[in-house]
Amino acid sequence: MSIIRQDPTTKEWVIIAAERKRRPHEYHRHPRAHPQPAETGPCPFCPGHEAKTPDEVFRVPDSSGVGWAVRVTSNKYPALGATGVLERREAGPLFREMDGVGTHEVIIETPSHERSLPLMTDREVADVLLAYQSRYRSLREDPRLKYIIIFKNHGEAAGTSLAHPHSQLVATPVPPMLLRRKYEVAVAHYDDTGRCLYCDIAEEERRAKSRVVLETDRFLVFHPFASRVSFETWITPKRHQPSFGQVSEEDLRELAPVLRRTLRALYDQLGDPDFNYIIHSAPAEDENKDYYLWHIQILPRLTTIAGFELGSGIYVSTMRPEDSAAVIREYEQVTAGKGFG
Ligand SMILES: [Zn+2]
Ligand SMILES: [Zn+2]
Repeated sequence: MSIIRQDPTTKEWVIIAAERKRRPHEYHRHPRAHPQPAETGPCPFCPGHEAKTPDEVFRVPDSSGVGWAVRVTSNKYPALGATGVLERREAGPLFREMDGVGTHEVIIETPSHERSLPLMTDREVADVLLAYQSRYRSLREDPRLKYIIIFKNHGEAAGTSLAHPHSQLVATPVPPMLLRRKYEVAVAHYDDTGRCLYCDIAEEERRAKSRVVLETDRFLVFHPFASRVSFETWITPKRHQPSFGQVSEEDLRELAPVLRRTLRALYDQLGDPDFNYIIHSAPAEDENKDYYLWHIQILPRLTTIAGFELGSGIYVSTMRPEDSAAVIREYEQVTAGKGFG
């Protein structure tokens, strides 16, 4: 079982997943949480190799009903596990730790080894989103799990070498540092103004227009004012809703083309960049409060995050979001009606 330890200097919780331990030589290059990939497949995520993955917890059947379109399994090398208790233990006068309770799942987005999200159909992307949400809603029922984070690592620079398209879900009992900060700032804004910070930001971006790349009836896509990396992109719903678990199926079906188009624009304009995306939600117990809006952050990994970023938390982006947004808007105009829209 992994353990969760608190850094006494920052109060940040750290997961130490000792089952993942490697011999020193395995750290020499590219330490990874996953086995080395077969670039062209077949791999453990390919159809016919289902027995090589841990227990399946969910699937979207394919149209024949025999196979699958999306599969969700436990992570073979979980950072957190289902057993253990939440009590903190003193491990010395300054040190605090607890069992590594939580969930770590893998969403296999497609049976096809090479069909990445930007190249999928809207229907296929919708199936992936439905799988995310189904797992979110299910894990939401476990009172130990307070923070549910869905994310995707695409490419080596984004932290994965496993080529087969997949995303992950981690649910934790303790607040991740960055999320705690986001929640605190949003709560303070709500206390001051009585309004939701993220809805206010989306409205302000919509009014300013210069960083908006796409707007539909229900969603807004923009490059945020203080982008941390070039082409950082946020997708926000236009109606207030704290949690991704609350999105209606109708809204999910509209989100699918919005997400696909957004990823496709980055794919075409930046040449299939490595990227991460994260689906942020309010803490599970705050889903009915008004201070937070679920949203998706997409972070292309065009440069390496290095010492200064890790040491200071200050990111250095090399492009103004107004300029990157203009590049994507132009692409959207050129491709409109050509089958990309
Ligand atoms: Zn594969
Ligand atoms: Zn809101």
